[in-house]
Amino acid sequence: MYKEIHIRKGKDQSLRRYHPWVFSGAIANMSDSPYDGEIVRIVSAEGEFMGVGLYQIGSIAVRVLSFRDEIINEDFWVKRLTAALVLRQSLNVVREDNNMYRLVHGEGDQLPGLVIDIYGNAAVMQAHSVGMHRQRMDIAHALQTVMPALRCIYYKSDNTLPYKASLNDESGFLYRSAAFSEELVASENGLRFHIDWLKGQKTGFFLDQRDNRALIELYAKGRKVLNMFCYTGGFSVYALRGGAELVHSVDSSERAVEVTDRNVALNFPGCSRHQSFATDAFKFLTSIGEGEKAMSNVQCSSVSDYDLIVLDPPAFAKHRDALPNALKGYTRLNAKAMQKIKPGGILFTFSCSQAVNKDQFRLAVFTAAAQSRRYVRILHQLHQPADHPVNIYHPEGEYLKGLVLQIE
Ligand code: SAH
Repeated sequence: MYKEIHIRKGKDQSLRRYHPWVFSGAIANMSDSPYDGEIVRIVSAEGEFMGVGLYQIGSIAVRVLSFRDEIINEDFWVKRLTAALVLRQSLNVVREDNNMYRLVHGEGDQLPGLVIDIYGNAAVMQAHSVGMHRQRMDIAHALQTVMPALRCIYYKSDNTLPYKASLNDESGFLYRSAAFSEELVASENGLRFHIDWLKGQKTGFFLDQRDNRALIELYAKGRKVLNMFCYTGGFSVYALRGGAELVHSVDSSERAVEVTDRNVALNFPGCSRHQSFATDAFKFLTSIGEGEKAMSNVQCSSVSDYDLIVLDPPAFAKHRDALPNALKGYTRLNAKAMQKIKPGGILFTFSCSQAVNKDQFRLAVFTAAAQSRRYVRILHQLHQPADHPVNIYHPEGEYLKGLVLQIE
């Protein structure tokens, strides 16, 4: 039987509302010291069963796997993964022309601390907790049962596990069939992308922007597009398919820019409408309109050339303490883009910082609008797609927000 964790009297309200975390301060005592990552039973002060979850040394002490009194074995993982797959199938993201999607989104799939992304016949798995790390082999077996067509399961948790648990350098193949090639190309809405899964960011691709990329395609016709923080060019490729007159992609990572060029070539061989720049976003934006002295290789040299700009920066606030600076960062970035965009232009602006909520982000963008002295209207309010579901009892799972603005 699992070791027990007893909750202090009066500290069980959030669990009763199905919030899937137990903070260390809510714990009265533990029957036997569990090891880091061990499966535990959670019991109320009155001795009533409350949940079963994964223990971790730290402030979030338990992540709840189930509010039912059940055994966590391969059958349990099969049940959870099957439910996750059935949901994705019903969302219609599992298609031949869209074979990449998020299969498991942590708390949103009642699997706190676990992310699994699917790219064709490859799965990339990420553990964000010590407990999920310890369960990785059982999860991988269950995944093979649920998705027998998979040819590889790659575990990529170097940057997501707690540093103190000394579990780093654990990345590698959990399963790989002999014929599997590391050169991975997958499809999103009929567009093809090289997935930089072994060395790239996250699990290799920003699947969370799928719906928002589809929206840019509708706005792109005849426009001059600037895709800032392009990573491997997702928004750029959609804008090209949407009929953009010109697309400029900017990222500070040379590797990302190289993959962007490959992705454009994969979909539009010989395309002359696209150019990419490996440089800092702020420098690039500042240089617009400053003519050839600032950046001689940038063809757009007048303020009014870009009439569709995408701003999709990395998370400015990784923690709550960084919030004030992060908000200033969003304001500064957006004000710059608003100053430079052509009158009547469209700005797609995003924040993926979990610590910044929708209202705070909107206020930061509002401040930018006022600073730039332009008349700004909100056309769309964007968020993460349905294969990144938010558990209603765990609002912390909502992280991606965006605004589509028209700038007069
Ligand atoms: N829009 C992308 C994802 C963006 S992720 C997509 O749809 O796939 C954020 C990107 O910002 C990363 O590729 C990172 O290399 C880049 N980046 C981080 N800091 C930067 C900076 N100062 N200037 C330009 N790019 C930067």
